[in-house]
Amino acid sequence: MKWSWRIGRLAGIDVYMHATFLILLAWVGISHYRLRQSMADVVSGLGFIVALFAIVVLHELGHALTARRFGIRTRDITLLPIGGVARLERMPEDPRQELLVALAGPAVNVVLAGILLLVTLPAGAIAPISEIDLVGGNFLVKLMWINVILAAFNLIPAFPMDGGRVLRALLAMRMDYVRATAIASSVGQALAFGFGFIGLLYNPFLVFIALFVWMGAAAEASTVQIKSALGGIPVSTATVTDFRSLSPRDSLQQALEHVLAGFQHDFPVIEQGRLVGVLTRGDLLTNLAQKGPQARVEEAMNERFQTADFSEMLELALSRLQSYKCLTLPVLRNGSLVGVLTMDNVGEFLMIQSALRGGPGAGRIKIAAGLAQ
Ligand SMILES: [Zn+2]
Repeated sequence: MKWSWRIGRLAGIDVYMHATFLILLAWVGISHYRLRQSMADVVSGLGFIVALFAIVVLHELGHALTARRFGIRTRDITLLPIGGVARLERMPEDPRQELLVALAGPAVNVVLAGILLLVTLPAGAIAPISEIDLVGGNFLVKLMWINVILAAFNLIPAFPMDGGRVLRALLAMRMDYVRATAIASSVGQALAFGFGFIGLLYNPFLVFIALFVWMGAAAEASTVQIKSALGGIPVSTATVTDFRSLSPRDSLQQALEHVLAGFQHDFPVIEQGRLVGVLTRGDLLTNLAQKGPQARVEEAMNERFQTADFSEMLELALSRLQSYKCLTLPVLRNGSLVGVLTMDNVGEFLMIQSALRGGPGAGRIKIAAGLAQ
């Protein structure tokens, strides 16, 4: 994630803090100070936030370590003001495994709440949640309630909350994954709508959560649709074999003529049958402005490019295409260029696929927007 700093490493997983987290710390510090103008309040407020996020990290580790048991690695854990995100390498395909991975986070909070309850109960320190203040009060009791809230909040059956995944996993045991996701995300969006409405009346913070849930639900549904539409399809099926390429010694003027003729946006550059670079439309335009139309393609082309293999799976090639600023991947077969794979034609391919499959998801597969993110 951009704008994140590494703050440590736990069980072999890097933990990052997002820049916006500092805003939360500043806000907590300032609001504690304004209450009684006491630095001690500020310190205890910040101490509480640090403890809160230590709990969040343990929650994310619950997910990560359960996933590891199923052979899935976690890239990193990032702390955001709204909670933590563990980026798993992939989600388990088996709904029973997904169920366990999703439940493991809230389970950590339930266990922590239980331990804190046992610690604080004999001291008679337990106060009902309605008497908990941000400032003052028993630190451990506050932490106990925080764990109860985190467990409950995360089990709300809406993406991107864990409850959304729990619901999807339960549904996926009875139906196919795409339909289960569609239903789970509709439930999530209905809940988001409800939160938003109640939030407008009572609590603006709920509107914020609602927005977050709404976007999470939509993103999850489109990712799963794309993945399922691409499952088991080789790159060769969506490769465009009728394309133009350039030579390093062509002029930018010639490249521009190809673009204007509407052939493509990005061009593979070939020298003696070997792929040596890619000229993107962006690079073409910048170099035209700086060096003029007589400059050569080799001065403007990008020599560090990604490629796809004719026989690899579309899903893999597409994730490379998405993480790469160029919208075209040259497709190679035994090392020589046979075609190009572009976002546009993958989008078209998916629309055709979904039209052929029919079904409820068909009309909704306007994935172009999701693909171009
Ligand atoms: Zn979680």
